[in-house]
Amino acid sequence: MPIQRRALLVAAAAGVLAAPRLARAQQGGGRLVILGGGFGGASAARFARDHHPDLEVTLVERSPRFTTCPYGNLVLAGRRDIESITFGYDRLAARGVRVVHQGATAVDAGRKRLRLADGAEIPYDKLIMSPGIDLRWGAVEGYDEAAATRMPHGWIPSQQPITVLQKQLEAMPEGGVFVMTIPDNPFRCPPGPYERISMVAEYLQRAKPRAKLIALDAKNGFSKQPLFQDAWAELYPDIVEWRGASEDGRVVRVNPAAMEVETEFGDKVKGDVVNVIPPQMAARIAREAGLANETGWCPVKPATMESALVPDIHVIGDACIAAPMPKSGFAANSHAKHAVACAAAALAGRAAPPATYFNTCYSHVGPDYGISIVGVYRGTPQRLEEVPGSGGISPRTAVLGERAAEHRRLEALYADGWYESITQDMFGIA
Ligand SMILES: Cc1cc2nc3c(=O)[nH]c(=O)nc-3n(C[C@H](O)[C@H](O)[C@H](O)COP(=O)(O)OP(=O)(O)OC[C@H]3O[C@@H](n4cnc5c(N)ncnc54)[C@H](O)[C@@H]3O)c2cc1C
Repeated sequence: MPIQRRALLVAAAAGVLAAPRLARAQQGGGRLVILGGGFGGASAARFARDHHPDLEVTLVERSPRFTTCPYGNLVLAGRRDIESITFGYDRLAARGVRVVHQGATAVDAGRKRLRLADGAEIPYDKLIMSPGIDLRWGAVEGYDEAAATRMPHGWIPSQQPITVLQKQLEAMPEGGVFVMTIPDNPFRCPPGPYERISMVAEYLQRAKPRAKLIALDAKNGFSKQPLFQDAWAELYPDIVEWRGASEDGRVVRVNPAAMEVETEFGDKVKGDVVNVIPPQMAARIAREAGLANETGWCPVKPATMESALVPDIHVIGDACIAAPMPKSGFAANSHAKHAVACAAAALAGRAAPPATYFNTCYSHVGPDYGISIVGVYRGTPQRLEEVPGSGGISPRTAVLGERAAEHRRLEALYADGWYESITQDMFGIA
């Protein structure tokens, strides 16, 4: 019998699993419940199960399969199919994570229970919430769930698979116009829209070379901007047009019937395909649990990722406020490991370990052409801050000179390696 299972049975026979919190805490174990089986939640479950065998680990996720946002843009380019970016939870379950496929409907923080759609309740000693984001319907006038069927967002795979946008892109006439609208900060994956511009342009250049892509942005600057713009000028000069806020790029209204968007100063832009990436906020369960503040996002203590508003709950991933860290899958994975370590330490009566977080965001911008940005952060009781002098960004082509092509090719390979590695880190090795 595996040691872990034997330990559980012995513990159960001794009545430990039903023992009060104090007794459990003295033994270092406890009930860790994780809500959300995406980048933060699956990472937390895998890490907790493997590194803290004394914890009972329950993962609550409404969907039986998880499609990643990362590499979704490569589906648009025709480089990947949706199956290759979709994962199940069998390997986590086989490792000893109790996986519950139910929607969670409420958190009863007073009684420390997570309520499920079927009415059951799961008691916890520590709860880690990584429920991701919701779209702010109506923040761009006219953009609601009905509008999203004609003007897809492709930003939350469980709500709208990227294949909806892919089908529209493939059906777009040669010489047609693909319009994309991009929100102001903060939002999920700061480089994501710009990787998407690149991957759509790569597809158009191959399949519909007379087509145009017009990106309308609510801000003037964005992640890895010089690198993206160098690449667009080099690879897709006749396809990509990007307009920032100062060039009237902020879209305030959409008209799905006319397939038209309207900017702040009244310019109307028509597209054959319109991809609206609207403003966002923490997912509903987090907001309804009282974890979010007036911004719609969840404040946390940077040293532990514990909610600043509700005790015994850690909020990680896109839902939390972790600026200057970006809202990325890599960041969620890093939050997850630290939150688990802090929860385990607290249950064992130990002090939280020092907080260091990491992020790397790779972007594909063309065939054999990758770029990246790296950040290292520390959390103190007062703030979350980038470690001075740490991190970095890929050099520009002018700096790389003759080495540029090889450098970009290697970064595209590293990106693929990162994707394989993080998905195994989340879901276990195949
Ligand atoms: C186009 C695009 C490209 C991206 N590329 C990258 C990239 O290259 N690198 C990178 O690091 N990041 C990338 N990201 C960002 C990354 O996808 C997110 O930062 C990451 O998914 C956040 O993880 P999370 O755990 O907070 O949320 P998610 O991964 O969205 O997971 C949330 C989970 O919670 C579940 N859930 C929510 N509410 C409930 C409930 N009430 N009951 C049960 N389950 C619930 C959902 O079903 C979901 O599975 C990209 C994003 C986009 C949109």
